[in-house]
Amino acid sequence: MSTSEDNENKSLVDMFDGNIDLIVQRARHNEQMMTRFQTYEVELLNAETLRSLVEVVLVNGKRHFGLDTITMVLLDPDAELKRLLTMEGLALRKFPNLMFTRSLDVFEPLCLSEQPQLGVYEADRHARLFPQYPRIPASVAILPLVRFGRLVGSINFGSNQKDRYTPQLATDFLEHLGRIFAICIESTQNHSKLIRTALTDNLTSVHNRRFFDQRLGEEVNRAQRRCEPLSCLFMDIDFFKKVNDTYGHSVGDFVLADVAARITPQLRQCDVLARYGGEEFVALLPHTREGLATEVAERVRNTICETPIQLPDGRRLEITMSVGVASLMDDNNCTYSGEMLLKTADAALYQAKDTGRNKVVYFEQSQIMQDVV
Ligand code: GH3
Ligand code: MG
Ligand code: MG
Repeated sequence: MSTSEDNENKSLVDMFDGNIDLIVQRARHNEQMMTRFQTYEVELLNAETLRSLVEVVLVNGKRHFGLDTITMVLLDPDAELKRLLTMEGLALRKFPNLMFTRSLDVFEPLCLSEQPQLGVYEADRHARLFPQYPRIPASVAILPLVRFGRLVGSINFGSNQKDRYTPQLATDFLEHLGRIFAICIESTQNHSKLIRTALTDNLTSVHNRRFFDQRLGEEVNRAQRRCEPLSCLFMDIDFFKKVNDTYGHSVGDFVLADVAARITPQLRQCDVLARYGGEEFVALLPHTREGLATEVAERVRNTICETPIQLPDGRRLEITMSVGVASLMDDNNCTYSGEMLLKTADAALYQAKDTGRNKVVYFEQSQIMQDVV
């Protein structure tokens, strides 16, 4: 005969049994979460460049955590981060969920501390952090990025489930993740800055030849893979030696910087401009056929000759530039290398020099084979 004590023990055992299943389930879930988190953390720490970090944060982060959306806002008062990412070839338009802010206003409604903020989505507090999201998230986790006590951005998780992020949830794991994000952003930024310094021409602030040679191979491969046109401009200041001889080397330096500053706005952000050496500049124009490339070259030539250069001492100096243009067309361009493209543009430039200077000459693709090989 069972006593009331036996009955009590039995129900305790039942309860315990049920709980064990629950505890085991929870432990498994936590273990899986930790594994996912650790994998993500290793990916973050392995990102060498800002570009790869952005890709890991936004693309892998969404996948690892099964998020409906993830956005990143970075404080970028001098557009330095934007420039570095562009230099690294990140197509910013493909990452509308990556945003830059010149001031901390965007975070103000959040009254950010170093603690992640979890809760339901509130338009007046969160809309600026999720502007591209077609559907408003139901709950959000905002991870502030703080370095040396200063807020430098936030990474923002959004979920369509209302109870995914609640203020009651423990935030140790998200806090840790926020710290890792902030450290990785800083270290990849430093790394990218170093690389930029090594690939930038000091005098003109445009890229140097090393950078150009690297990008030439990449751009030619890309154009060939996608069957897209690619054009190259080889630009050379006319009679530049005379400038040095007449006005001195420092005026020559001033002119080189001025010329670079005039060429830059004539090109798109995706174009690659470099000082190839001395008074020679080169530009690569992706997705650009011969006709448009020649127009751009004419614009560059014009911007150099139409307004004299104003020297610091008030004197005005008229200079001209010759430009050689060559293009890889979108069909059947696989047999041509970057080196051939560049040599053809160089050959076109020398024809421009030989036939009077201050002009643009285009060489046909077929001339690549005739004149270079
Ligand atoms: P052309 O019209 O045939 O191109 O004649 P050019 O005088 O421009 O060409 P040339 O190759 O004879 O002379 C180029 C000059 O550029 C010679 C060199 O002293 C000068 N130069 C090269 N690098 C620099 C530099 O960094 N600063 C200055 N000031 N001059 C430079
Ligand atoms: Mg010259
Ligand atoms: Mg030259």
